[in-house]
Amino acid sequence: MEHCGWCNLSEEDKRFQVYEGTFWSVFLSDEQDYIGRCILVLKRHCGSLPELTDAEWQELRMLICRLETCLKTVLGATLCNWSCLMNSFYKESEPDPHLHIHVRPRYDQPVTVNGNTYTDRAFGHHYAVKESGAIPADDREAVFTRLKEWLNR
Ligand SMILES: [Zn+2]
Repeated sequence: MEHCGWCNLSEEDKRFQVYEGTFWSVFLSDEQDYIGRCILVLKRHCGSLPELTDAEWQELRMLICRLETCLKTVLGATLCNWSCLMNSFYKESEPDPHLHIHVRPRYDQPVTVNGNTYTDRAFGHHYAVKESGAIPADDREAVFTRLKEWLNR
C-alpha cells in the first residue's frame, strides 16, 4: 500500500526494531511514557484481527509471551497492557487501517535507566493516553539495546 505509513516506515522508525519475525516486526515506540513501550506491526497490509491467518496468530501468540517475559525480566514490569486500537485510521474519510498492537509495560516500582528514575504514577489504573512520552535519547537507546539483546538471544 503506497500511502500507508506502516508499510513505508522511515529509516528512523526501523532503527528501533527490537525483533523481526516472519509475519510481525516489533519496534520500541518513540513514546516511552511507559518505559519499554513497544509496537507489534504486521508485515503485510491488513486491517483487523479477524483477518489474520492461523500462522500470523501463532506467531503473535509466541511474540506476546516472549515480549511480556522480556519486559518483566529485563525491566521489571509487573504486568503489560496490550491494546489493538486502530482509532486514528478512522478519522479519514476512507479508512485503510494497518494492524498494529501496542504494549505498555506497567510497574509497581520505579524503573531506573542510566541513573534516571521513571515511576508509573497511575499503576493499577488504565494507562494515560496524553502523558508525554519523551525521554532522553540515551535512555531510549539503553532500553532499546537491552530489549533487543534479550529478544535475539
Ligand atoms: Zn500498510
